[in-house]
Amino acid sequence: LIRFDGVMKRFGSNVVLDHLDFTVSSGKHVTLIGPSGSGKTTILRLLMTLLKPDEGTIKVGGEYLTHEERNGKLVPAGETHIREVRKNIGMVFQQFNLFPNMGVLRNITEAPVHVLGLSKDEAEERARELVELVGLTEHLDKYPSQLSGGQQQRVAIARALAMRPQVLLLDEVTSALDPELVAGVLDVLRDIAHTTDITMLVVTHEMNFARDISDDVLMFDAGRVIESGSPEKMFSDPEHERTREFLSAVL
Ligand code: ATP
Repeated sequence: LIRFDGVMKRFGSNVVLDHLDFTVSSGKHVTLIGPSGSGKTTILRLLMTLLKPDEGTIKVGGEYLTHEERNGKLVPAGETHIREVRKNIGMVFQQFNLFPNMGVLRNITEAPVHVLGLSKDEAEERARELVELVGLTEHLDKYPSQLSGGQQQRVAIARALAMRPQVLLLDEVTSALDPELVAGVLDVLRDIAHTTDITMLVVTHEMNFARDISDDVLMFDAGRVIESGSPEKMFSDPEHERTREFLSAVL
């Protein structure tokens, strides 16, 4: 479903992704781990088209994100093409990024109405189901500022799912939360991982969570995948010295 081929990304002379190849199959949950600065967030930002690669191609659902085919030729993707492919991708950020001037329900219905063209009623029906899924039914009429960080993050998860994306990107979604609020958000995500067929690409420092939900764990170092495997193998018997060092620091 997701395919990176020879993706190179640099900022000035800093090579952040170094001819990166990896694939994520449909319905799989893949966690990216590795030291700070190893390029994990950059991968998610490339998928959200917040950044463009300097070299290489990215495909999502069989379509190029970076390019489009015109008259049998591959040319850099235009805005319309990018918007279409991006509809398949939802993202939840470390900072919740809710619309502060909109209540919970409107935060969730805004994009389905304006981007997907759903009627207000259809979007609200979908939103109410999702609000129940994330356990916020009694907070439906509140504004983000009236909610705890954990509740805001659960709204952000519902908002991402309201677009019915094929892929959900999670970028350190509990890092900005007070410790006592982390478990509630992770429980919601575990539930989604175990009960839906959505594909997930996750950057997290919560290794127990990663172990619970991941089909595969990819270890990054200096812009490359240096090792990958099942969470059982990666967390208990990693092959690479760098992976062992990293895990002993975070576990
Ligand atoms: P962390 O766990 O700290 O979030 P990461 O593995 O997600 O780290 P990235 O955020 O992808 O790492 O960053 C990789 C490198 O790219 C870092 O050295 C960072 O300083 C650099 N970088 C990221 N974004 C930019 C930018 N917009 N301009 C310049 N350098 C950037």
